[in-house]
Amino acid sequence: MSRSVLVSGGCGFIGSHLVDRLLLRADLGKLVVVDNLWTGVQQNIEHINDPRLSLEVQDAESFASHQRFDEIMHLASPASPSWYMREPVRTIKANIGGALNLLTLLKPGGRFCFTSTSEVYGDPLVSPQPESYRGSVDCIGPRSSYDESKRCTEALLFESQRISGLDVRVARLFNTYGPRTRIDDGRAISNFISQALTTGILTVYGDGLQSRSWGYVEDIVDGLERFFWRDNISYRGTLNIGNDCEVSVLEIANFVCSLVPGSRVEHHPPAPQDPTNRCPDLTLARRVLPDWGAKVSYQEGVRLTLEWFREQVSEWRSANMES
Ligand code: UDP
Repeated sequence: MSRSVLVSGGCGFIGSHLVDRLLLRADLGKLVVVDNLWTGVQQNIEHINDPRLSLEVQDAESFASHQRFDEIMHLASPASPSWYMREPVRTIKANIGGALNLLTLLKPGGRFCFTSTSEVYGDPLVSPQPESYRGSVDCIGPRSSYDESKRCTEALLFESQRISGLDVRVARLFNTYGPRTRIDDGRAISNFISQALTTGILTVYGDGLQSRSWGYVEDIVDGLERFFWRDNISYRGTLNIGNDCEVSVLEIANFVCSLVPGSRVEHHPPAPQDPTNRCPDLTLARRVLPDWGAKVSYQEGVRLTLEWFREQVSEWRSANMES
């Protein structure tokens, strides 16, 4: 049967990789990407020439259509702290307003998929974090527009599931990096790489001993693909998707410096309410998706991302020299 799918945020970093995978699906009849191009860029899907794909440049919270979809994948949201902290209202609207609106476009019996975040665990007091951990979040803190709108959207979806039996798939993504991150995104790995290639000075916030679990985008999208479009998954709760190898920010920065001669680390004041650690407990993910696991080490992933950024920076330089 030919399926109609809507992806919000499909021009974004993770969204565009997901769109590439969706177009490999033989059962895909139509794919509508809804993206307001706030943090996403059209260039991320420009390589695609497929009549099944169309782009609607609109906010997820106000997109209207007569069409109803078999599957909706709601990814529209900034994910970088510097972006969502600048525009908290817009962030809340994208997540919660987007989900409320897109739910009205789902066919009866359709499936609603949502990319939530490890931020729902806040600054965790247990490590690694299983899905059952309720988190340590400041609901009025500087990260709250993102954390709480993801949490509230989870509540909306699981309450819809409880009340009306909606088929809900909620993935909690841990730190993800790789090609197609914006140069001005601001998150650690992309920032370190673009800084190494431009100013040569890598801004480490605080002592850099805070840790994260860094997932290369292809591994993360492998997990999403399995979780979001398999019909035979009976598990209906939230699922951690990430790489469970936890590494400090300083180690990542030093590794980037080792690849780009002449670059160095500079310590800056800590970011507000910066979580000290983050690591997924993947026990459940391994049970639900037995054929999935993150394969790319941070060393390999950073090298691949660096190659992609080098091309972007040199294209940007030659475009600016010409003009
Ligand atoms: N970070 C840093 N320098 C940067 C960007 C980020 O030291 O230029 C740190 C940040 O303080 C945090 C970690 O790297 O401890 C991951 O930050 P990111 O913004 O990538 O994601 P987060 O996990 O905070 O949402």
